Amino acid sequence: LTLQWFGNKNVKVVEAPVPAITEPKDVICKVTGTTVCGSDLHLYHKEIMQLQAGDILGHEWMGIVDEVGSEVKNVKKGDRVVASFQIACGTCKFCKEGLTSMCDTTNSSSVQEKLYGKPFAGLFGYSHFAGGFAGGQAEYVRCPFGDTNLLKIPDSVPDEKALFLSDIIPTSYHATVCAEVEKGKSVAIWGAGPIGLLAAKWSKLAGARRVIVIDRVKERLALARDTIGCDVINFDEETDVVKAIYKLEPDGVDCGIDAAAFRYTKGLLHGVQRAIGMETDSAEIVNEALRAVRKFGNIALVADYAAMTNQFLIGALMEKGITLRGTGQAPVQKYWKDLLKKVESGEFDPTIILSHRFKIDEFKELYEAFDKKEQGIMKTFVQT
Ligand code: NAD
Ligand code: ZN
Ligand code: ZN
Repeated sequence: LTLQWFGNKNVKVVEAPVPAITEPKDVICKVTGTTVCGSDLHLYHKEIMQLQAGDILGHEWMGIVDEVGSEVKNVKKGDRVVASFQIACGTCKFCKEGLTSMCDTTNSSSVQEKLYGKPFAGLFGYSHFAGGFAGGQAEYVRCPFGDTNLLKIPDSVPDEKALFLSDIIPTSYHATVCAEVEKGKSVAIWGAGPIGLLAAKWSKLAGARRVIVIDRVKERLALARDTIGCDVINFDEETDVVKAIYKLEPDGVDCGIDAAAFRYTKGLLHGVQRAIGMETDSAEIVNEALRAVRKFGNIALVADYAAMTNQFLIGALMEKGITLRGTGQAPVQKYWKDLLKKVESGEFDPTIILSHRFKIDEFKELYEAFDKKEQGIMKTFVQT
C-alpha cells in the first residue's frame, strides 16, 4: 500500500509494487512508521507545480532494512533505521562539509537553482520539485545512498520516538543553534507548531532563562506553557506582540526564531516557482523579530520562505547590529547521532507533541483531519 496524490485535496491509499534496487548504493526498507508534515499540505493543495498524478508522498519515515545494494556498507537486512528527509549523496563538496541538505547532486530538477544559483538536496515524497523520489507514506521505500541517509536505531528507542529524527528533531535543534540559544539567554519563538515547540524544548534544555512562544492556537500555546514551561503570547489577544515581549524582557530577547512564516496562515504559499514571477513573501514576522530582539541579538529563520519580500525593516538589522540567519533545510545528518543519544537517554522526549495515531489505510482521513487541524491535531504517528 502507498499514499498517492491525484489532484487538489485528492489523495488515495493504493496498491503499488515493492520498489526494486536500481543503484548499487540503494537500500529497500519496509516502513514501520511515517507521518504527515505541515509541508505535505502544500502538495495536498496542489501548490507545487511539478506534482504528477500517482506521486507517492511522505518525507518523514522509518523502517527495517529489507534489501541492500552491492555498495552499501553501513546497514544490513534487518536493521531498524530512520531516514533523513533529504536525500544526500554523501560525496559532493557540500556533503563532505556536513551540509547534506545543500547536496549539489541529488536534485537535478531543482527550481531553486534557477532562482538562487545552486540546487539543494532532493527530498523523499516531494514530487519532481525535489528530485522526483517516491516517499515514505508507503509500506516499502527505495532509499538512495543508504549509507548517508539512514541512521540505525537501537532497540531501546521505540518507533514513536525515533521517527521524528527524520526531520523535526534535528530541524528544531538546528534552529536553536543558528539563533545562538545558550544558557542564561532569553528566546522568542514565532509559531507553536511541531518545529516551534520542539525548538522551545531544546532552548529549555540548553538552559535558556526564558522562552516566549507566540501563536494563536490555544491548545498549542497551552502545550508550550504547561508542558514545556514557556511564557506565551496569543497574537489574537495582543494588539502589539513586540510590546508584549518587551513587557517580559525589557531589554528585548537575546534570540528570535521564526518557526511560522506568516504566509502559511493566510494560505498564500508563493512557492519558488511562482517567485520567478516575482511574487513576494511577507516580512511581518521577521520585522516583529527585528524589533523585539535586543541590540546585537540573533534571529534564525527556520520557517520556509521562498523568493523575495518588500517592506523588510532593514534599519533595525543595521542599527541594532542584529545577526539574521537563514537555517536552510536542516542538515539532519550533522546532528542525528547526537540527538538520538538525547532521545535514548530520555533527556529529550519528542512525543510531547504526538497527538494522534493512525493506520496506513486511514491516510485519506488523516490528510482531511490534518488539513482542517481537527481536534487539536499536531503530530501524528502512522503505523504501516
Ligand atoms: P505548523 O504550520 O504546524 O506551525 C506554524 C504555526 O505558526 C501555527 O501554529 C500558526 O498558528 C503559527 N503562526 C502563524 N502566523 C503566526 C504569526 N504571525 N505569529 C506567530 N505564530 C504564527 O508548522 P511546523 O510543522 O511547525 O513548521 C514550521 C515551519 O518550519 C514551516 O514553515 C515549515 O515549512 C518549516 N520547516 C522548515 C524546515 C527546515 O529544515 N528549515 C523543516 C521542517 C519544517
Ligand atoms: Zn517534515
Ligand atoms: Zn552531496
